Amino acid sequence: MEFEAVIGLEIHVELNCATKLFCDCPNNPGDEPNANTCPTCLWFPGAVPRLSEEALNKAALLCLGFGAELQPVSAFDQKVYYYPDLPKGYQLSQAHLPLSRGGGIEIMNEEGVTRRLRIHHIHMEEDVAKLVHEMEGRTPISLVDFNRAGAPLVEIVTEPDFRTPFEAMEFLKALRTQIRYVGSSECSMENGTMRADANISIRPKGSTELNTKVEVKNMNSIKHVGDAIAYEIKRQTESVGNG
Ligand SMILES: [Zn+2]
Repeated sequence: MEFEAVIGLEIHVELNCATKLFCDCPNNPGDEPNANTCPTCLWFPGAVPRLSEEALNKAALLCLGFGAELQPVSAFDQKVYYYPDLPKGYQLSQAHLPLSRGGGIEIMNEEGVTRRLRIHHIHMEEDVAKLVHEMEGRTPISLVDFNRAGAPLVEIVTEPDFRTPFEAMEFLKALRTQIRYVGSSECSMENGTMRADANISIRPKGSTELNTKVEVKNMNSIKHVGDAIAYEIKRQTESVGNG
């Protein structure tokens, strides 16, 4: 039996704003650890988040660059998530009313065919703090740097329109070029201002079903995204072949 892959991407892009998403702290994660913090982005009880106008404008511009439809109403939700890099226990994200819906990017696939790869929606969210794992003598310790806590992010969620690693890599290159052009982010995968997750499943060629997917997260180079997808397609094909 011949299989085809069904691939969707989620891409996190850090906006190049002067301040964080909900406070006036500088958006410079590389500064001396915990230099850029305040009660809001340390997530103290009682602190009131206030949305940055610059972040909203840069996120909206990014959406329009992909022909997405800005929604007349969008809102933030609490995504509950318990981890030392998010001590308040939830992330402010947009689960139900995202900033935009629709849009897409055209690429040329490996057979020279033009493919339009659709975007499902784009939402805004705050980044979490950064954990640094070190050794103190022979004792492993973990440190928390809040400079990145509350940094302005957008997440671009695609439709599962991709069939090959090549298409995913071409999409990411075109996406990066477009975001740099509108000026909303540097989209540097080395510096972590762009990170990608890939969702991969396989199905018999010609079928329209969506099978159980595997998500590979937080990849920091376009080549790694292609390699991870190729590996997953091979692994899942062998696994199905083995029953
Ligand atoms: Zn702050």
